[in-house]
Amino acid sequence: MTAPAVDLDGSIDDRLAAVRARLAAACDATGRPRPAVRLLLASKTMPAERVREALVADARARALDPTLVPVLLGENRVQELVEKAPALADLAPDWHVIGPLQSNKVNAALRWAGTVESVATLDLARRLSERSRDRPAPLAVHVQVNVSGEASKHGVHPHDAHGLALAVAALPGLRLTGFMTVGANSPDDTVVRAGYALLRTLRDEVLASGAPGTASAVELSMGMSRDLEAAVAEGATVVRIGSAVFGARTR
Ligand SMILES: *Cc1c(COP(=O)(O)O)cnc(C)c1O
Repeated sequence: MTAPAVDLDGSIDDRLAAVRARLAAACDATGRPRPAVRLLLASKTMPAERVREALVADARARALDPTLVPVLLGENRVQELVEKAPALADLAPDWHVIGPLQSNKVNAALRWAGTVESVATLDLARRLSERSRDRPAPLAVHVQVNVSGEASKHGVHPHDAHGLALAVAALPGLRLTGFMTVGANSPDDTVVRAGYALLRTLRDEVLASGAPGTASAVELSMGMSRDLEAAVAEGATVVRIGSAVFGARTR
């Protein structure tokens, strides 16, 4: 039996508005300005037409409320990125790579993505650096940290994150723009928040280091559909939302 890929209850406009309302409430609750947290739509498994509907819904919402900041888009798999990006090129979305990037996929990813959030090794950073030398602007990269230590999760160990960030920041062709994590898979809000607080501390330590290229490392990409409130409370500047906007997925 196959579950439907998309939950068709309500319109995509309604679900996007509901997520925006959760974000606004989370910002208000912690005294953060609403534009300080951007919404990235994680579009994995969703066809390009579905992603287009979300982008159009976002444009409609922004026409009614000009204080809203445009959504970003994120793909886990380069294969999906290269399939969808050409079909959406007229809308010029800001694509982020948010999944593990194999070295043989770097060129394909760089054709479409302005930011790679999933840099977890110096080897990948060096490859991105080499292939970014001819870009008109440096490639934005985040260091992905495995804050929960769950074996299934991608990301550098927290103990090694500072060193990796400084090494990445020093590479030509790259601009270290921040840090990304996938939160703990735990029903315990305290555990989830502790992971997000750890990412914030790592970011603050890198900024405080004053090392070359680190001043731009301000972003904290953390929080998903189930836990965006915890992430915003701990300082997220980008939350990555899939199912709450697109509906349930089969993977
Ligand atoms: C799928 C995914 C998300 C969004 O998850 P939802 O629970 O659907 O909101 C965020 N980040 C990454 C890296 C993902 O793969």
